[in-house]
Amino acid sequence: MVFRALVTDRNAAGEIASSVQSVDESALPAGNVLVAVEWAGLNYKDGLALAGKGNIVRAFPHVAGIDFAGRVVESRNYRYHPGQSVILTGWRVGETRWGGYAERARVDAEWLVPMPRRLSARTSMMLGTAGLTAMLAINRLKEDGLTPARGDVLVTGASGGVGSIAVMLLARLGHRVVAVTGRPEQAEHLTRLGASEIIDRKQLLEASGKGLDTERWAAAIDPVGGEVLSQVLKKIRYGGAVASIGLAGGANFDGSVLPFILRNVTLFGIDSVMQPYEARVAAWERLSTLFVPGAYEPMVSEKHLEDLPREAAAILRGEVAGRIIVNPK
Ligand code: NDP
Repeated sequence: MVFRALVTDRNAAGEIASSVQSVDESALPAGNVLVAVEWAGLNYKDGLALAGKGNIVRAFPHVAGIDFAGRVVESRNYRYHPGQSVILTGWRVGETRWGGYAERARVDAEWLVPMPRRLSARTSMMLGTAGLTAMLAINRLKEDGLTPARGDVLVTGASGGVGSIAVMLLARLGHRVVAVTGRPEQAEHLTRLGASEIIDRKQLLEASGKGLDTERWAAAIDPVGGEVLSQVLKKIRYGGAVASIGLAGGANFDGSVLPFILRNVTLFGIDSVMQPYEARVAAWERLSTLFVPGAYEPMVSEKHLEDLPREAAAILRGEVAGRIIVNPK
C-alpha cells in the first residue's frame, strides 16, 4: 500500500527540507504493530526535527512526528488487535525512528498505550506529549506533597503546549494557578483555562541579582528553563518544588544553591520520552478524567502535513499558542 507522508530529507548542500510524498508501506521500519495514523501533534521537539536543529534526526530520509494516535491495522503482539485505538508518544519515535507525520506508522508494541475510554484519536492528540508531560510533572509534585492549601502554583511558558495544559490540569485539581507568559494577548485564554493570575515574563525577568528573593509560589512547572528557571527558583516558598520540563528559553541557567539549602526547595526533572509503560498508562488514564476537550478547543489549530514546515519554524520562535494537531490524510 502507498500512503502520504511528510518526508524530511537533506540535500547535497546539507540543507534540511520536508515535502509531502507517496511512500510505499515496504519502506516503513521494522516493528510488530502497523498503525493507521488518524491524528498527530506538533511539539517543540518536532519543530527542531523539521528544522534540522538540535541533532534530533541523524538519518535521512526521515518521517518526523513524536506523537500520534490511530487504529491498529496489523499486530503480532498479544496486547493489540486490528481496529484497536492506540496512542504513541516518545521512545524516540519521530527522532531515531519514523514517526507520526504519515498515514501509516510501524512501531514496537512496547511503545504504544491503549487509548483510554474517554479519549479519541483527536482529543488524545490535543494532549500529546505536551499533555502527558504536564501530567507527569503534576504527579511528581503531588507525590512530593503539593496540595492546594500549600499555596499558588506557577506555570511558565503558559501559552505553549505543555504550559497551557498544565494550567488547565492544575486548576481542575483545585490549585490557584499563576501563569507566566511573554504574550499578554493570551491572558484571556489562560484565564479561561483556569489561571487566577497572569505575570508578564518581562516582569519575572527583572532580576534582583540576589540568590534569594521574596517567597511567592509553593511549586512551579517550567517548560522554559534558562533565565526564567533561574528567577523562579529564587522565589519558591520554603519546602516547595520546581518541575523542570524543557528548554524553550534556554538549556543553561544560572543560580545558587541557596534555594536548596536555605529553603528546602527541590528541583525535579521530568522526562516523558522513556517513561515506563505502567506510568504512561496511569498518566493517560488520569489525563482522560481531568482534561476537558471542549474547554481546551480554542487553544487547538488543525493543520495539514503540508503546513508543518512553516508551523515548525513558528513553534521555535515561540509563536504557537496551545496545540497544533495534524490529520495526515
Ligand atoms: P511550545 O512552543 O508550545 O511552548 C513553549 C512556550 O515557552 C512558548 O509558548 C512560550 O510561552 C515560551 N517561550 C518560548 N520561547 C521562549 C523564550 N525564548 N524565552 C522564554 N519563554 C519562551 O513548546 P512545548 O510546550 O511543546 O514544549 C516546551 C518545552 O518543553 C520544550 O523545550 C520541549 O522540548 C520541552 N518538552 C520536554 C518534554 C520532556 O519529556 N521533558 C516533553 C515535552 C516538551 P509564552 O509565550 O506563554 O511565554
